Amino acid sequence: MSDLPESFKALRVEETQDGDKLCYSSSVIERHLSELPDSDVLIKVHYSSVNYKDALSASGNKGVTRQYPHTPGIDAAGLVVRSQDSSLKVGQSVIVTGYDLGMNTSGGFAEYIAVPAQWVVPLPEGLSLFESMVLGTAGLTAALCVEKLLNNGLTPDQGDVLVTGATGGVGSIAIALLSKLGFSVTACSGKADSHPMLKRLGAGAIITREELLDQGSRPMLKERWAGAVDVVGGEMLWNIVKSLRYGGSVACCGLVGSPKLEATVFPFILRSVNLLGVDSVLLPLAHKTAIWSKLAAQWNIEQLADLAKIIALDELQAGIDSLLKGQGKGRLVLDLGR
Ligand code: NDP
Repeated sequence: MSDLPESFKALRVEETQDGDKLCYSSSVIERHLSELPDSDVLIKVHYSSVNYKDALSASGNKGVTRQYPHTPGIDAAGLVVRSQDSSLKVGQSVIVTGYDLGMNTSGGFAEYIAVPAQWVVPLPEGLSLFESMVLGTAGLTAALCVEKLLNNGLTPDQGDVLVTGATGGVGSIAIALLSKLGFSVTACSGKADSHPMLKRLGAGAIITREELLDQGSRPMLKERWAGAVDVVGGEMLWNIVKSLRYGGSVACCGLVGSPKLEATVFPFILRSVNLLGVDSVLLPLAHKTAIWSKLAAQWNIEQLADLAKIIALDELQAGIDSLLKGQGKGRLVLDLGR
């Protein structure tokens, strides 16, 4: 403990009351190490990244974070500086994503985190700490979506695969990964100026959000997609289900459009399609570790550096605001210095 500083820098989100309204604001503060939980492993965070869920935590979404003040950040990568677990050594490079990090446990928007050993993935060979946070929860989730589609029989010869929220974290990495695996990918994006970026990631075709939304109310649509990765939910997800080819699958992982789903059974019983749920948060550690190893090896993504915008702690709030407005592009990587 003696080599460790007493205090460290962190983003703190505070809740204040304005009449009936709860307001949230953030600032960079000094915190004491003793304020962190008394957990197995203390980690000096080198990089974190900004995910949609962090934006929800920083803006008072009680489904994500119940109590404030709070330090968000569901992702962190860094070095172990103290360990009460024999499998994790001081000086080891590690990744922590999901579980309760950044939700109700002080998160990665800080120079230090303290977490249970069961949350910690050793950094796999082939990935740097920086690259692991360009991927972060978004990359892990994109890989889980792709894995689930493959496990449900999707192969490149079956036809086009759609990715929604294409310029966002999950979407952009899903495009790169599917394209690397030989799939013909159609990207759906709301950003008219994003075509060069999406082409570089490997999208063969690009469509607008309106094209997926304006489909009328028919119970089934023309067969179009062999598979899909959807981060939007709501009407867009349902229109995708209705346009899957016979036996096709959509991996559903997000709700940026809506958490609601108004559905009928017709696509399931007439076209044998699959709606596949994907969760990266409570994924068992062994599965999480296996996915990270794949991302470091056969599923490595060459465009990672292009996707990253590096920011500092005092630039986080602007990044969070842009994600809440649906204006994010690629991945915001928080550099906490070394
Ligand atoms: P980002 O903010 O990085 O990306 C979301 C993208 O969705 C935007 O960039 C935009 O892309 C598009 N979008 C935004 N608003 C709308 C809208 N109203 N209608 C349609 N499209 C919209 O978020 P992430 O990629 O980090 O996360 C995406 C979703 O996945 C979130 O809901 C998040 O909570 C969820 N998620 C779930 C996980 C799980 O374990 N299940 C893990 C990680 C994320 P464009 O402009 O190109 O259309």
